[in-house]
Amino acid sequence: MSDFNEARERMVERQLVRRGICDSRVLDAMRRVPREAFVPDCLRDLAYEDRPLPIGNDQTISQPAIVATMIEAAELSSADIVLDVGTGSGYAAAVAAALSAHVHSIERHADLVAMARDILARLNISNVTVYLGDGTAGLAEHAPYDAIIAAAGGPHIPGIWRKQLAIGGRIVMPVGCERHYQKLVKLVRRSEDDYESSSLGEVSFVPLVGADAWPAPDAAQSDGAAPQRIQETSP
Ligand code: SAH
Repeated sequence: MSDFNEARERMVERQLVRRGICDSRVLDAMRRVPREAFVPDCLRDLAYEDRPLPIGNDQTISQPAIVATMIEAAELSSADIVLDVGTGSGYAAAVAAALSAHVHSIERHADLVAMARDILARLNISNVTVYLGDGTAGLAEHAPYDAIIAAAGGPHIPGIWRKQLAIGGRIVMPVGCERHYQKLVKLVRRSEDDYESSSLGEVSFVPLVGADAWPAPDAAQSDGAAPQRIQETSP
């Protein structure tokens, strides 16, 4: 266990601090959440490698640096209500939950929903609720959100998310016209109708598949487990 604690501390210093993650609350959250609990048993020894790892259903747990980058960009604070689209293993939701009041997290694969719920329960993380569904429709019942974070890339930010974002709220999502290559985009809602967009660098995420994103691949094709990459210089 202490090996994992040491590996996590090394990960924070070498993969996050050196890449420019400087929000101490984010670094503390990354120090606290045990990534090894979110990866398949056979990959535990790789839990603190600088890379995404397969979690089943052709999906991946994001690279630690990208989770930290997205959560830092989301500027979470303790009263925030967060929508997390693409629960996957539940790791990013758990890190976001360490910095906010509640995380509502949506995943389209039932197997991953069950797995994430199980891991979060085992870790006694009670401020994350995991839903099965298409996150491109948002989640009206708990809107507005102070932050919306998506770990899957789509051709545009789903229209309904803008409406479900609080004024002052932040969306962080990979956007690109290819299924596996995107720019990490941050959108801030400045007023009722005014949104400000900025780019945080090039990334490669699995596709966001849903009614307001990419169509589902046919059975023979994979959703794509392309490795996520983040430019060493970003952000
Ligand atoms: N944040 C996750 C990363 C998972 S990868 C983690 O820390 O492990 C992205 C996830 O988005 C995949 O599990 C994929 O199934 C899911 N996904 C893709 N499109 C979706 C959609 N429209 N709604 C909900 N989940 C979606």
